[in-house]
Amino acid sequence: MEKGWVVGGGVVGLSVARELALRGVEVGLLEAGRIGGGASGAATGLLARPPVGRSAWMELRRSSWEIYPGFLAALAKEGGEAVPMLRCGALHLHREPPTNPGKLLGRWLDGGHRARWVGPAEIRKVICGYVGDAELALEVEEEGFVDPRSLLSALKAACLALGVAIEEDCGEVRFEAARGGGTTLRVGERRAEGIGNGTVAVVAAGWQSAMATVGLPPARLPLAPVQGEAIALSIPSPPLRIIRFEDDAGIGWQLAPTPDGTTWFGSIVSAEGTHGGRSEEGLDKLLRAARCLLPDVSRSDVVRHWAGVRPKAMRRGGPLLCRWPTLTGLWIATGHYRSGIICAPQSARLLVGAILDGEEVPASFDWDAGTRGG
Ligand SMILES: Cc1cc2nc3c(=O)[nH]c(=O)nc-3n(C[C@H](O)[C@H](O)[C@H](O)COP(=O)(O)OP(=O)(O)OC[C@H]3O[C@@H](n4cnc5c(N)ncnc54)[C@H](O)[C@@H]3O)c2cc1C
Repeated sequence: MEKGWVVGGGVVGLSVARELALRGVEVGLLEAGRIGGGASGAATGLLARPPVGRSAWMELRRSSWEIYPGFLAALAKEGGEAVPMLRCGALHLHREPPTNPGKLLGRWLDGGHRARWVGPAEIRKVICGYVGDAELALEVEEEGFVDPRSLLSALKAACLALGVAIEEDCGEVRFEAARGGGTTLRVGERRAEGIGNGTVAVVAAGWQSAMATVGLPPARLPLAPVQGEAIALSIPSPPLRIIRFEDDAGIGWQLAPTPDGTTWFGSIVSAEGTHGGRSEEGLDKLLRAARCLLPDVSRSDVVRHWAGVRPKAMRRGGPLLCRWPTLTGLWIATGHYRSGIICAPQSARLLVGAILDGEEVPASFDWDAGTRGG
């Protein structure tokens, strides 16, 4: 393979570009705006290793967690920027005891976690002044946090050091079907022809991947945008613990300690709109939910409030990591929804293994996996 194009400078596009460059491919990365300007720069950076599970989607998250420390160490070596990873464990609060606590715990233990149930006294020891009604919590040792902004900066530095030609603010890239089953990549007046003929292109444009490829056969990419918002609070968080809980409406929230001493809280999941902007309503919602854990929290404690749009694959099975079914040389890497930060290292490995070595990617990451029951 002579040349690879990667479209999109989020965590997924950068990870794919890096992996291709490591394998000796000449890579050009095209980003319509700024690196990290999409969902990746808006993530809360939680690295949630899932319990044991048989699905390829769970396995992707589990294996990506396993390789994360090595991935960060490699980035630091390649580009010179270290990304601190907090391995802090988590407390999953339960308002009602689960029907079978032993079975639930067993799933985590079988997955190689150190985990145990803790009662109200320990919950209150971890969360000082806790006023909620959770009487039981699952303590899980294997969870972590990275600041997505440091991660993106380190990934960009590593890509540049490996020779990836990164072009930011290039405008929106579009793909068009070309004669003979190949594809043309078009950006402004420029065209890159011959994709499929010694050249590959990877669409990693987050939720906008569907727009970048609109009109290509056989159909529009099955992707939906899902808005998110989160906040950073100036108040200290429970030391070395991510806290996960559900509010009265059954909505899940997470609170995370960060290396800079702030507490991150999120995140809103809303199918409405694709503006990716913060809202007053969102801030109110976040503060209301945060008060379930930290009753005294107020607007003046908010040091940052941000938003982004997640790319959700609209079929069962996980992200879209596959070749474009009808066109040669065109590949897709998107749809990681709420898990793009944790999955990026392993997703990039899988996809580049498929592109360069013809390795199999789990069938459930195919375009039509849901329709085939995968
Ligand atoms: C509030 C929030 C909290 C989150 N928390 C977590 C978390 O704790 N842990 C976790 O693992 N994940 C989390 N996520 C999810 C995670 O952020 C995403 O899954 C991931 O960032 C997706 O990365 P991506 O590279 O596919 O997309 P993006 O980061 O959106 O990158 C796509 C890039 O493509 C560019 N682009 C778009 N169209 C074009 C075009 N036509 N031409 C050129 N460039 C284009 C965009 O400008 C953008 O920079 C969170 C997301 C949000 C919004």
